Amino acid sequence: MNYLKQAKSFSKTATEWDKLVRKFICYETQADKEKLFFYMQQILFGLQEFLHDHVGVTEAIDLKKLALSYTDTRISDIPQKKLTEVISEIIDEIAPHAVNVSSPYFVGHMTAAIPSFMVILKALVAALNQNVVKLETSKVVSVIERQLAAKVHRLIYDLDEKFYNDNVQSVDTTLGCFTEGGTAANMTALWVARNTALGPKDGFDGVEKEGLFSAYKAYDIERAVVLVSQRGHYSLTKAGGILGIGNSNIVRVASDCDGTVLINDLKEKIDTFTRDRKTKILAVVGVAGTTETGHIDPLCEMADICRKNNIHFHVDAAWGGPTLTSEKYAKLLKGIELADSVTIDGHKQFYMPMTCGMVFFKDPKHMDAVAYYAKYIIRKGSVDLGIKSISGSKEANSLILHGAFELLGKRGYGMLIDHGIELAMEFAEEIRKRENFQLVTSPKLNILTYRYCPTRIKQDLLSRTGRERAEIQEKLNEININIQRIQRERGKSFVSRTALKRKEDSEEIVVLRAVLMNPLTNIDILKEVLDEQEEIFEKHCKSMI
Ligand SMILES: *Cc1c(COP(=O)(O)O)cnc(C)c1O
Repeated sequence: MNYLKQAKSFSKTATEWDKLVRKFICYETQADKEKLFFYMQQILFGLQEFLHDHVGVTEAIDLKKLALSYTDTRISDIPQKKLTEVISEIIDEIAPHAVNVSSPYFVGHMTAAIPSFMVILKALVAALNQNVVKLETSKVVSVIERQLAAKVHRLIYDLDEKFYNDNVQSVDTTLGCFTEGGTAANMTALWVARNTALGPKDGFDGVEKEGLFSAYKAYDIERAVVLVSQRGHYSLTKAGGILGIGNSNIVRVASDCDGTVLINDLKEKIDTFTRDRKTKILAVVGVAGTTETGHIDPLCEMADICRKNNIHFHVDAAWGGPTLTSEKYAKLLKGIELADSVTIDGHKQFYMPMTCGMVFFKDPKHMDAVAYYAKYIIRKGSVDLGIKSISGSKEANSLILHGAFELLGKRGYGMLIDHGIELAMEFAEEIRKRENFQLVTSPKLNILTYRYCPTRIKQDLLSRTGRERAEIQEKLNEININIQRIQRERGKSFVSRTALKRKEDSEEIVVLRAVLMNPLTNIDILKEVLDEQEEIFEKHCKSMI
């Protein structure tokens, strides 16, 4: 360790280079060190209070105004700040204008509070700076990642002991892959599905090598499609573009108001495509926890249809996947074990820090369809995780999940899931009780949608039809948009909003959306959120009706 000692003993007259090297390997002065300890201590040992005190504490500053402070586009020639100053800037000037997603009043999105230990694990992962693209830069971490993939695979598929013994560390098979997020995970699944459906055959080397034009000729088709419900996540549409099949070929199957697939329409579409012979169905996607309403497609029936028609069945469980840890509610995902591939997001209900996605394949050989080798790093027959992955360089995210599983256990995660689902039921009950609100989609998991709808207007909606009814809906939409915006700008509470189409309406209606995943959120807090919405209506929106 001589090179470190040498660097530490630089004299006061050090050259610029010496100073740079010093900055590279250690902190600055003793005073700096103390200040740093002060900040880091708060983050490490009092994360929730720290976030509460520092993040998103200012009210409604116009983003346009904020943008004006960030217009200097030159990189400074020489150092401008010390580390403590950089940290002060982040904590004192930037964080107040960021969003305190960890607040128990922040119940609008799938991004929320994470356990404090996650921050420590994340810092450790950054400190080790392993790159799991290849063994040479990660060694043991690559085999831990394989083990983690097997653990989550087992949570989903629960195959026999021998299967996991054979595959957990086999260099010839792959149970799953860590990705940047759910988007990349879905893309990976459809990439595998595409390459399998349009694989090599007599004189044709496969779509991955020869491209879609040749593939369509070789298979005598004009079109390749993926079927998913109308409430499928837009990442699937993106995948259609990137995989070259065209995003208009991500075909939407009709769904009911909750957003779950209507099986009859799925069957009809499959029949139509199969009959015309010029269309190849690459995959059917079932959603286990739709982003907007948290609803779950009829996975067993979909799997059955796919099996009969020999179609790849992918389940997008980016949100709902971790429900499998709950003894009480895992059954809601029944049928997920029949999927050929499954997406789960680590940064959602596994409570990992941004970002971590994962995709799993039932058949451990399935990912061979996307294997890539490079002479200088990822060699055939190695454990290099970069062989079958959209990403190249990749952080050792699996170490965080590894630690989290040890710290919480399946039971701990299960309790978090139970809390969210049961709180959502309680919240739905509260909304039903209040006469000025209307529950739009009741919770299946821990997401629900509702809207503000004064009693008098509820009556009107019942008696009016056609144009008159549409006009009332428009007013309600406007009111709900305003309530949501004003509440967000006030900065205490946050629910999100989206638009849904119900059977009884001719147009989409605007709804407020609550996502309940923070263990510190409780029914009293949710009542306050509703109270504030009523108060906002009285003060700002009453004149609109
Ligand atoms: C969040 C989500 C995605 C996308 O995941 P990212 O991590 O944001 O890329 C895909 N599908 C569903 C159902 C989701 O909830």
